[in-house]
Amino acid sequence: MDCREFEAKLWAFLDGELDAAACAELRAHLEDCPGCLDHYRFEDALRLFVRRCCQETVPDALRARLDHLLARLEE
Ligand SMILES: [Zn+2]
Repeated sequence: MDCREFEAKLWAFLDGELDAAACAELRAHLEDCPGCLDHYRFEDALRLFVRRCCQETVPDALRARLDHLLARLEE
């Protein structure tokens, strides 16, 4: 697996949509490739953050911060 292939499958991997063989390939690539490991960690953290912010129990302050962040991304 090369880095382009890894990136193409990263979101499916994070969403748990890949089969065991594909997951094993991605994990093997992560062990060999610090750049993709950084990318993976970033996407994983971002995903957890967004998911937490989408729950109804999110404090208003956190939701406001996320709105602000998204507004900046859309500029
Ligand atoms: Zn890579």
